[in-house]
Amino acid sequence: MPTTSSPAKKLFDTVLFREIWEAMKVTFRHMFHRPMTFEYPREKRTIPDTHRGALALLRYDDGQERCVGCDLCEAACPSHCIKVISEEDKTRPLQRYAKEFYIDITKCVFCGYCVEACPVNALAMTKLYEYSTPDKRTLLFDKARLYEIGERYLEDGKRYLYAHNQEKEGEESRAYRYQFPVPVQKTPNA
Ligand code: SF4
Ligand code: SF4
Repeated sequence: MPTTSSPAKKLFDTVLFREIWEAMKVTFRHMFHRPMTFEYPREKRTIPDTHRGALALLRYDDGQERCVGCDLCEAACPSHCIKVISEEDKTRPLQRYAKEFYIDITKCVFCGYCVEACPVNALAMTKLYEYSTPDKRTLLFDKARLYEIGERYLEDGKRYLYAHNQEKEGEESRAYRYQFPVPVQKTPNA
C-alpha cells in the first residue's frame, strides 16, 4: 500500500530538493569507481590466448606450408564456408598440398572445429578482429590472405594451439600429431 506523507514533510522535501540529492548520490558514488568501459579504439582489451578471432594458415619454421590439402577442415565446418582444392605435390611423392584455399569469413561462426579437425595444425585462430569493411567481397579469404594473416599473427596462432592443447610449446609440431607416410620404393621383379 502506498505511504502517504504529511504536507509538512512534502514541503520540507521540496525546499531541500531531496529527490535531486537522492539521484545525485548515485552519480557521486560512481565518480570514484574505476570505469568498466574501454574507449575503443584508443584503448583495447587484453585478448586471451583462447580467443577465436580470424583464421590463419600456418607454415613450419622452415617456411614450408603445413597444409596437406586433406579437406578435413572443409568436412568439419558446420557453416560450409571452407573450400579446399588440393593436388599432388610433384616434388614430394605421396604428398598433397592445397592448391587453392578459401574461407568465407562472413559465414564463419568461429566454432574452431576446422582447427580441431586439422591433423597437422595448419589452421589456427588469431587475435585479429579488426577487419570490418564496406566491401563484403574482401571477406572471402583466399590462400594468400590466410598465409599472410598466419605470418603477421604467427605468435597468436601458436598460442591458440597451445591454449587448446593441440600443440605443445617448444615441440616440433611436425612430429607431434601426424606421421607422414614414408614413400614406398618399388623394387623391380627379379
Ligand atoms: S571456425 Fe567453424 S564455422 Fe568458421 S571456418 Fe572453422 S569450422 Fe567453419
Ligand atoms: S588446413 Fe588442415 S584439415 Fe584443412 S586441408 Fe589443410 S591439412 Fe587438411
